Amino acid sequence: MAGRSTLRSAMEFDFIKRLFSPAPKPAEPAKPVSKPLPNPRERRFDLRLNPPGPNLPKESELLQQARVLLLTAGSPRLTGLVDVRWNARMRSTAGMAFPQKSLITLNPRLAQFGAEEIDRTLRHELAHLLAYERAGRRRIAPHGPEWRKACRDLGLRDEKRTHDLPLPTRTAAKRYFYKCPACGQELARVKPLRKASACLKCCRAHAGGRYDERFKFQPVK
Ligand SMILES: [Zn+2]
Ligand SMILES: [Zn+2]
Repeated sequence: MAGRSTLRSAMEFDFIKRLFSPAPKPAEPAKPVSKPLPNPRERRFDLRLNPPGPNLPKESELLQQARVLLLTAGSPRLTGLVDVRWNARMRSTAGMAFPQKSLITLNPRLAQFGAEEIDRTLRHELAHLLAYERAGRRRIAPHGPEWRKACRDLGLRDEKRTHDLPLPTRTAAKRYFYKCPACGQELARVKPLRKASACLKCCRAHAGGRYDERFKFQPVK
């Protein structure tokens, strides 16, 4: 039958074409994309109910999930290339996507938030790989419409770009310094004082514990 053989040779041609034409390397995704861990206070996670440790899925299991998802989303090329690794050195980042290496790294601390959050982060990062793969040499924003489309194709609805920061973030440096004009007591702050604040020690000693303008903290250069 002419129809069938035409179809077959078209498929063969497509296969040969894929073999010999190098897949377009994404031009833009030089920088890996990361996603912070969720904030346990703002979500329904309970750290006591989900201790980290034994419930950590194997990398091979995650890789298998990733392959199924990518194949379903229609990207056989990425399905063959993708790799998923745990990275225990990650701190406040939940997951990262390295489009040029087709690699996803996940923070083992994610296990504290339950299997659902591991799955969500895996899909979030896969969406980065998929979006860049589809974009080819076209430049796209990390969390732009292409990424959102990829999220939907990977079964992730209404994914936010980021979650609020979670566990161990580095403590912010204190860069604002104040001094009590009376006793010299110093105050160091991450953010500047928004309303007048006075030295508690002096207010207690000389003003009956009430706010007193004389002991107002003065900025120090
Ligand atoms: Zn992201
Ligand atoms: Zn004082």
